[in-house]
Amino acid sequence: MSMTQETSSKTPAGALAARMMTMPLMISSLLVHAARHSGDTEIVSRRVEGDLHRYTYKDAELRSRKVAQAIERLGCGVGDRIGTLAWNGYRHFELYYGISGSQRVCHTINPRLFPEQIAWIVADAQDQVLCFELTFLPLVEKLAPHLTGVRHFVLLTDRAHMPAETKIPNLLCYEELVEAENGDYVWPEFDEHTAACICYTSGTTGNPKGAVYSHRSTVLHAWASALPDAMDCSASDSILPVVPMFHVNAWGLPYSAPLVGAKLVFPGPHLDGKSLHELFESEKVTFSAGVPTIWLGVINHMKQKGLRLSTLKRTVIGGSACPPAMMRTLENDYGLEVIHAWGMTELSPLGSLSKLKAKHRELPLEEQHRLLEKQGRSLYGIDMEIVGASGEPQPWDGHTTGDLLVRGHWVVSGYHGRDESPLQQIGGKAWFPTGDVASIDADGFMLITDRSKDVIKSGGEWISSIELENIAMAHPDVLEAAAIACHHPKWDERPLLVVVRKPGRELSREQVLDFYEGRIAKWQIPDDVVFVDEIPHTATGKMLKARLREMFREHRLPGV
Ligand code: AMP
Repeated sequence: MSMTQETSSKTPAGALAARMMTMPLMISSLLVHAARHSGDTEIVSRRVEGDLHRYTYKDAELRSRKVAQAIERLGCGVGDRIGTLAWNGYRHFELYYGISGSQRVCHTINPRLFPEQIAWIVADAQDQVLCFELTFLPLVEKLAPHLTGVRHFVLLTDRAHMPAETKIPNLLCYEELVEAENGDYVWPEFDEHTAACICYTSGTTGNPKGAVYSHRSTVLHAWASALPDAMDCSASDSILPVVPMFHVNAWGLPYSAPLVGAKLVFPGPHLDGKSLHELFESEKVTFSAGVPTIWLGVINHMKQKGLRLSTLKRTVIGGSACPPAMMRTLENDYGLEVIHAWGMTELSPLGSLSKLKAKHRELPLEEQHRLLEKQGRSLYGIDMEIVGASGEPQPWDGHTTGDLLVRGHWVVSGYHGRDESPLQQIGGKAWFPTGDVASIDADGFMLITDRSKDVIKSGGEWISSIELENIAMAHPDVLEAAAIACHHPKWDERPLLVVVRKPGRELSREQVLDFYEGRIAKWQIPDDVVFVDEIPHTATGKMLKARLREMFREHRLPGV
């Protein structure tokens, strides 16, 4: 059934009805558009199996229809959740469209989470099917007995790469499922507010929370993020998203690339400097996107081998603050335009990007740099406000700071399965509190100055300080412990644990660190431990993290 109507039926009584078509914003329409208008444009993927795979938007659209049919054959109904544990690649791309396009919900899972957390979010999302890549076979074998709600496990590979033996019951082969279908499938049109994807954020305390994006929010986000003052995507681009498809949908690039008909290049699991540089060059990549950490690897590799970037023109860097020195190196030594961006899982994720206005071209270079180093101006579709302690809006003068609030078409209004609203009412409007502290200047350039939420972001991945503290406090010799972010040149932030020993107890740094082994993912274990006599507290007994961060601002982590 087509939902295309000649006019909107929601015109209020007395108002003149417009005479325009109303078409629901469907994720499938992005791929259909690419297949019809850029049908021979390539999608190139480095596979887990090691080789390079290439096909076109036309092929991808057909295979996505087959995926939709295969999902139907597995008995999945409308609204069912299907989990993915996969890298950036064409099969994951087909799942994005096959799942959402057929009115199911694509739940992208971050494989870097601790296995218990993965099991928790699979249960919370109520995933019916779990599709995963060969890399994750040992992980899924371990998890499968705990994933009691999952009815089907699908390995994203062909028959030749299926394991001879596995502990996973009735493991299905993705290529066999796809090949069994004929593609005779018409993308359905339905209400654009229907859920399309779920992405969990572990950025705050407690259990991860699911942000549930709609078709409408996803398409609008893709549209806005392709604009010139955002990612500036076009049909002449070759786009390599380094940011993973399990991280807020690779910042929407698997949607904005087909929207404009750009070539897509997927790096698979190979995110080291050498592999990325090879793909940049061989696939004539013009635009890339990722967290600052990945660029360190690329810069090191290029420096060591005396290499250049012959086609790459610009890159969006976000997810963590981009160090100004990295911006300068990429610009001055490699001719790359760096676009600093800020966003959140709850914002699908793009909120702001730093691009100059015409008048700024007159400014001295240093002042231009200062603006470009900020997190930037908000996109149309996102509004921002900074507020004081009692919610009063703060001036946009470039130095007064406040809690950063946002509202917009691709901002969450709540979380999956939770009744409580995260929104704050200010000036008669609902706002989402970001947990970031920022200033905004008269031109709308936002600068993140601090974070009110209690988390540490290492190489673009969250580490819950509460979790680190709870583990430390379980040690019999620890009286109190606080985990804070400490600056690290490679990972941006790494956890530093501040510990008060119980009176009369001996406790070494090594003993504390050993205590984390097996209790938390290795990469989340603090880099260092410092002992203090007491931790500063607020009047209400909360640890004063801001004071601690200040006290240890100059602390040098081992090996730095
Ligand atoms: P996530 O939901 O994992 O995308 O994390 C969102 C959070 O990452 C934001 O609320 C910020 O605290 C942080 N963040 C994202 N981009 C930037 C940036 N460019 N500079 C500083 N912090 C950032």
